[in-house]
Amino acid sequence: MSRIRQQNVFAAQWTPNGGALGAPDLTVADNQIFGENVFSEVVQRQRLPKEVYKKLSTTLAKGEALDTSLADSVALAMKEWALEKGATHYAHVFQPLTGLTAEKHDSFYAPTGEGTALASFSGKELIQAEPDASSFPTGGIRATFEARGYTAWDPTSPAFILENPNGALLCIPTAFVSWTGEALDHKIPLLRSMDALSKSASRALKLFDKEVSRVFTTVGPEQEYFLIDEQYYFERPDLINTGRTLFGAKPPKGHELDDHYFGSIPERVLAYMLECERELARLGIPIKTRHNEVAPAQYEIAPIFENSNVGSDHQQLTMQILQNVARRYGLVCLLHEKPFAGVNGSGKHNNWSMGTDEGENLLDPGDTPHENLQFLFFCTAVIQAVNKHQGLLRASIASPGQDHRLGANEAPPAIISIFLGDELEKLFNAIESGAAGQSTPESFLGLGTPVLPPLPLHGGDRNRTSPFAFTGNKFEFRALGSSMSLGLPNTVLNTIVAEAIDYLAEELENELGAGKSLEDALRPIIQRSYAANKQVVFGGDGYSEEWHAEAARRGLLNLPSTPDALPYLISEDTVTAFSNYGVLNERELHARYEVFLEQYITRLNIEAETAASIARTMLLPAAVRYKAELLAAEEPELASELGELTSDFIEVIRALESANLKENHAEDDGPLVHAQYMHDTVFPAMGAVREVADRLERVVADDLWPLPKYSEILFIK
Ligand code: ADP
Ligand code: MG
Repeated sequence: MSRIRQQNVFAAQWTPNGGALGAPDLTVADNQIFGENVFSEVVQRQRLPKEVYKKLSTTLAKGEALDTSLADSVALAMKEWALEKGATHYAHVFQPLTGLTAEKHDSFYAPTGEGTALASFSGKELIQAEPDASSFPTGGIRATFEARGYTAWDPTSPAFILENPNGALLCIPTAFVSWTGEALDHKIPLLRSMDALSKSASRALKLFDKEVSRVFTTVGPEQEYFLIDEQYYFERPDLINTGRTLFGAKPPKGHELDDHYFGSIPERVLAYMLECERELARLGIPIKTRHNEVAPAQYEIAPIFENSNVGSDHQQLTMQILQNVARRYGLVCLLHEKPFAGVNGSGKHNNWSMGTDEGENLLDPGDTPHENLQFLFFCTAVIQAVNKHQGLLRASIASPGQDHRLGANEAPPAIISIFLGDELEKLFNAIESGAAGQSTPESFLGLGTPVLPPLPLHGGDRNRTSPFAFTGNKFEFRALGSSMSLGLPNTVLNTIVAEAIDYLAEELENELGAGKSLEDALRPIIQRSYAANKQVVFGGDGYSEEWHAEAARRGLLNLPSTPDALPYLISEDTVTAFSNYGVLNERELHARYEVFLEQYITRLNIEAETAASIARTMLLPAAVRYKAELLAAEEPELASELGELTSDFIEVIRALESANLKENHAEDDGPLVHAQYMHDTVFPAMGAVREVADRLERVVADDLWPLPKYSEILFIK
């Protein structure tokens, strides 16, 4: 069977009208559909009683607790709106610690007892539900007490309608808590961390003569993904079971030619992207850019930034839409961090900033001396936070998929450092060394200049090797994995920056209290903080050997694997910061630590068993059959060459199978030791099997090789 020839048939089967929902109507202008499936503020204003709407929007703007008496009104309006949109069911949507989205559907209709049914949906049902979710990971939180967790409406993230060819569903964003009030999800800590940062930043802004009612953190994620023909997907049990290929020789054509990056987008793919964007627009998710990525068959999509909570919910939804729509085009969207060995993996750039409720971006340098001072203050806080909590930041992005990318010269290294850009780094160095004429009255922190030189807004990827880069008016945390929820990394960023802001604000309050001008008060604070934290600032090539040596000299953490990183989730510094700010208590942190270790173990175990099974039941038979063919064709030399490779193969398969044996897993030594065993023993055993398998792929007759090859999967669109 030549799959290449067969493939042209699959690609040709796709037509613009082939999707299950029919072709999107591309004649309707985007502004007519934007947000049409969202229970947005506009809809709320139209449909809620005036009083209710007013109360609701003021509580939300202030980030206060909701008056539950409003719920019945909101529920009624929401139900009517949803029924008009064709919804028959509603679901509380939540984000358990698996990092995925979960939902339980309930019908609006309840039988009346007279043979009819009535649509009902009360405030109580809006506010709270008890999903039968006892099998979501909790890290022991629920088991200790009682197996009860409930979902609670998050009114700060708008409800929306998800359409299906056969009906529609009202989705209500919710938080997932244990009955003791402990967070079982990614949303609650994110919301708590946003509150924490808002308090700290508002306090600091007072010192810059600004009264604000709220500061929001913002997020704009750039999402990378692969698109492959679904036929190949179904022929690869490894992709189906693990999301990545466990076998596959490097194709003769990789991305050496760089002909894919920003190249023209193939028609089927573009049609797919347009439909995704249309669906996202209807859900009120504004898409900003799309383009080809570095690797063949790899693409990127980025929305316009939003506040962290809504942005993070929208990111979950985007991943879901990317995957759902792909199937309408005979494609599969792979979100795994490393679907193909030897080919660039996928990440997610987490653009992050802080902004006031009036829209002022606190990481925008501005053009007046006053704005500049404020910018430097907040920027210093970020540097201090990232340096102090390097390990925690690294832990917040740890996953098995990430272990393939970080430090593999395609993604940032596993060492956390900050790229400030030449101009800003020079400026901080000058402030630190107390450079030029401090006495000039109009001098800017003693630099002899009243305003910052304009900092170039980041164009393109200027330093792609840095995990954490200042890009003109925001920081870009570039080390996230493509399949990850934004929840934890943003929770960490918000919390540690809140802590640093408070630390610096207290110093500034003291200096100002001594009667100094803002400039004079700020200078020594920035000097001290930068001197103590500049070890984390690095503008060079993060991929280079020299940097690894230099980082070690500086004492920066280098945590290459998930088991190396996760313990920082429960380190003393983490526990202190997270409990001081009420983001996660020690138990909640431990729960996450245990859940993430368990997930790591489970996922590696699935990979190892899938690898062993494919090797033994698909690849080994192919090799043996081909050997028999060679012998029958009187090619003893070729047959004996293959015979040697086959014996090697049997040996490494047996080693992997033995590494997989339960009794070798050291389970009794606790999850960390178990995770280390998976990393140190099982993972290399899989690698050894793959190494021989990939050599076999190059010599076994193509018509006998049971798995589609990289050259087919990646290059046929
Ligand atoms: P690049 O590829 O150059 O990094 P893109 O334009 O692809 O940049 O993406 C930049 C992302 O940063 C977008 O999602 C954008 O909305 C987001 N962004 C811009 N300003 C902010 C901000 N203040 N806070 C958070 N994200 C932001
Ligand atoms: Mg970027």
